[in-house]
Amino acid sequence: MSPFPRETLRPLVPYSPDRRPIEVDLSDNTNRWGPHPAALEVVQNANGEALGRYPSVYGDSLKEAIARRFQVPVESVSTGCGSDDLLDSAFRAAGDAGESVRYVTPTFSMIEIFGRMNGLEPAALSPEEAREPEALLMDAPALVYLCRPNNPTGDVAPRGWVERLIEAGGSGGPVILIDEAYADFTDDDFLAAAAESERTIVLRTFSKAYGLAGLRVGFAVGAAEVIREVEKARGPYKVNRLGEAAAIAALADVEEWVPRIVAEVRAGREFLLDALVERGFAPLPSGANFILLPLGTKDAAGITATFREEGVAVRPFPGLEGIGDAIRISIGPRPELDRFLKALDKVSI
Ligand SMILES: *Cc1c(COP(=O)(O)O)cnc(C)c1O
Repeated sequence: MSPFPRETLRPLVPYSPDRRPIEVDLSDNTNRWGPHPAALEVVQNANGEALGRYPSVYGDSLKEAIARRFQVPVESVSTGCGSDDLLDSAFRAAGDAGESVRYVTPTFSMIEIFGRMNGLEPAALSPEEAREPEALLMDAPALVYLCRPNNPTGDVAPRGWVERLIEAGGSGGPVILIDEAYADFTDDDFLAAAAESERTIVLRTFSKAYGLAGLRVGFAVGAAEVIREVEKARGPYKVNRLGEAAAIAALADVEEWVPRIVAEVRAGREFLLDALVERGFAPLPSGANFILLPLGTKDAAGITATFREEGVAVRPFPGLEGIGDAIRISIGPRPELDRFLKALDKVSI
């Protein structure tokens, strides 16, 4: 018997990906080139105040830097302890217990968990069921979640389809959350559209392209009234002083490090796709910093374990809807992709 009364929480288990150290870790889509150098410098030069004093309540300096960089009103921006924090807060802000969160499978595994954590019912649709975007609005969910580019498939939902979804939702429909954790690696985003929309929120993170996953900084952009509600549900002091200062330093760079890393990721992505196709595999096209490789009848967990013996970590996805078992490979610098391919040739799947 659980000591707590909430039945919706009881079946949940703590998140436990395999985080054992390994030589070449292509399992979690963090930045294999390391952290943004300007952010690292800020952290290395931090003084006692950065540790001993509270940060700003809602990350106001970071909000201003984000508003400037992405040309959106500062009232349209909220910050959080990773974009996960903003997802969680948006769920809390938009849905009352017993309402539902709609999404298309397969997608970010945390959605079902954050939904249940907040007392919401996960309401998944298959890609076939979601062919018409209006289908996501059926039965009046409190929220619609869309990951673009999608984790774990890499798929980028067509812009016109998303625009139709936003338009059909209108001012009375659900809050539409567009998770753009990987949008830095593609050409298209909904930041400006969200700021001008009535009920759309875009979520961004410093964990991937900026290489700051350890600092836990993310942000959200949407209509000012919607963002204010998310911030109320979020609570104070979620972005720490070091994270805020480091993220601001990284944002100042629009022409150097980030564009170079993004270009390397894109080149590595094409290289790996070609190398896999050459070997007779059918990897999925990707707009992100990873590639999903369906395994046919092979077992993802077993294959991941074999890769680990070769010093390479990938992420297993057993039994993905419509795809079957698959592994997800993060794009790292060329020598790491070569290591992966060498291991692949050796494990002969
Ligand atoms: C990595 C990732 C995030 C980022 O989470 P943070 O909390 O900002 O580290 C968000 N959404 C998806 C789909 C991701 O894969």
